[in-house]
Amino acid sequence: MTVIAIDGPSGSGKSTVAKAIATQLGLAYLDTGAMYRAAAVRADHAGLLGVPAALPKLVEEMPLEISLDPANQVVRLAGQDVTELIRTTAVSGIVSQLSTVVPARQVLVARQRAVVEAHREPGIVVEGRDITTVVAPDADVRVLITASEPVRLRRRALDQHGQAGAAALAATEDEVVRRDRDDATVARFLDAPPGVTLIDSSDLTVEQTVAAVLELLPAR
Ligand code: C5P
Repeated sequence: MTVIAIDGPSGSGKSTVAKAIATQLGLAYLDTGAMYRAAAVRADHAGLLGVPAALPKLVEEMPLEISLDPANQVVRLAGQDVTELIRTTAVSGIVSQLSTVVPARQVLVARQRAVVEAHREPGIVVEGRDITTVVAPDADVRVLITASEPVRLRRRALDQHGQAGAAALAATEDEVVRRDRDDATVARFLDAPPGVTLIDSSDLTVEQTVAAVLELLPAR
């Protein structure tokens, strides 16, 4: 029985690390950011992104399927594969409009808690912005993975544009700095609250960051 909760800002490397840990330990993997991204796509298509009062119901009724396999993430909305679509810069640019609406968050948090409950055996790695504090505060391991802003910008630029030249870094600025500023109004992921271990991955490889998280696993 293992629940590993990982929070962190954009470009911190939390998804890469979370997937690697789930693969290594044979656990399920839940990317809660993918749920917010899918919900934002649904709201946008319905023309309701700017109508906060409509969002909780829209999220409640959203026919979302999300795979929990760390090696193969598939996200479907009403049967349509949106795995690639939700990763686009356009979706990164609008997702905070949905995720900062607290009643809509509450609906998604309830869904996320249900997934965690259903996968306590053999276990699950859950990542997002508020997992250690709101979704699974009783997790066996609670970590906040961060990195300096230049490192996060560089990682995201490499991810998104395949290079980290000046133009790519500038294009990534909104996706990292503005988005985290907006997201931080509703979730605490820039500093570690009591009981949550802060791991600064600025100077660590993925393997070193994975090892730092695994060290926190209680002995069995
Ligand atoms: O992690 P990722 O960048 O895919 O998350 C996308 C967006 O979803 C974040 O910018 C944030 O607005 C929202 N999010 C959230 N709470 C989470 C996970 C993601 O608000 N637990």
